[in-house]
Amino acid sequence: MEDETVTPEGLPKRTGNNLDPWYHHYAARAAGLSASEVRALFAVASRPEVVSLAGGMPFVSALPDEFVMGSLERVMRERGPVALQYGSGQGTESIREHILEIMAIEGIEATLDNLVVTTGSQQALDLVAKLFLDPGDVVLAEAPSYVGALGVFRSYEAETVHMAVDEHGLVPAALQETIDRLTAEGRRIKLLYTIPNFQNPSGVTMSAERRAEVLQICRANEILVVEDNPYGLLWFDRPAPDAIRSLDEDGVIYLGSFSKTLAPGFRVGWALAPHAIREKLILANESAILSPSVFSQLVIAEYLEQVDWRTQIDTFRGLYRERKEAMLEALEDHLPELSWTNPNGGFFVWLDLPPELDSKAMLPRAVRELVAYTPGTAFFDDGGGRHNIRLSFCYPTPESIRLGVRRLANVVGGELDL
Ligand code: PMP
Repeated sequence: MEDETVTPEGLPKRTGNNLDPWYHHYAARAAGLSASEVRALFAVASRPEVVSLAGGMPFVSALPDEFVMGSLERVMRERGPVALQYGSGQGTESIREHILEIMAIEGIEATLDNLVVTTGSQQALDLVAKLFLDPGDVVLAEAPSYVGALGVFRSYEAETVHMAVDEHGLVPAALQETIDRLTAEGRRIKLLYTIPNFQNPSGVTMSAERRAEVLQICRANEILVVEDNPYGLLWFDRPAPDAIRSLDEDGVIYLGSFSKTLAPGFRVGWALAPHAIREKLILANESAILSPSVFSQLVIAEYLEQVDWRTQIDTFRGLYRERKEAMLEALEDHLPELSWTNPNGGFFVWLDLPPELDSKAMLPRAVRELVAYTPGTAFFDDGGGRHNIRLSFCYPTPESIRLGVRRLANVVGGELDL
């Protein structure tokens, strides 16, 4: 009888997914790499007639172009061969010195030695996950949490367990209960992933008291805290409390980035790690990328030396504050029956929909009506967020924001009439 599993040439027949003949070759962890269902819609949403309240793109046009150009030129003129070469896997000294100065604003004391420069903080997240997560491990995170971090944890076959958040941030009692429950189930909890400032996507900031409590619970249960803080300096009325890392240098990996205070195109972020971890982090960085871009690091260092960057960050704060206010006013005008968060910084507002509305199912209709948002489900690993929407106010002008919210209100009204 003919063997149906081989070709006439005797080669094994490929079965499975016709679209991808290599389907059966993938490592198990590749299963965690699935495109979000809303990705295709976002391509449509990038058409100019659509008001996008979806992406989290910083408004880089507000940067002083001439200083960026001047920094680029000076780096090339004075240090071209160094800038274009491979560099240290830990990052250049000059940028690490600037990073120490930036982190000091949030109460962090550290040494150059424990700082590792990465290709954006996204890559730092990947390195941390690679170092600490085995399949089946648990990462604790806020409900909701940053979609890009959830994807990284999934790609290392870990499970994210979400915990309740209120207007003061992560609820310590929920953290303790979750730890007790998972421990009783025999699960291995490795990390707490938190975005304490102007959280993506909720906009919530963790209070100083909560920071201390959360840290204490994690220390008592031997859970490493990963503090992801790309938005901390972009406050509106008052600075956020000092970083969790300022309270403890041995139990926290702190992640920072130039993406929101300067520009994401440089792809420069960093990890500040406990001394015992930092060597592994450098080795993992070298293994992944050899070295972060020397060119980008030198240009940023040059820029920071030439520009009054604190004033520049202040300009960003004013710009984003105005956009947030435009968004909240428009929500009050057009969707007064709904509720939303009022962030004191960052890029995002989190909107609660009536329970009969499904944010993902509603998105195609919204795009037809020329407004885009990110459905809440993107920010949960457990199916949560169906009745939530993340609205970004960072990129569109205040006028576009008002127009976008008006269109959104039509969509919500239309759905409720059905
Ligand atoms: N963490 C959070 C919370 C973010 O919102 C982002 C960007 N959206 C990142 C990390 C990654 O930023 P980058 O790699 O540009 O530093």
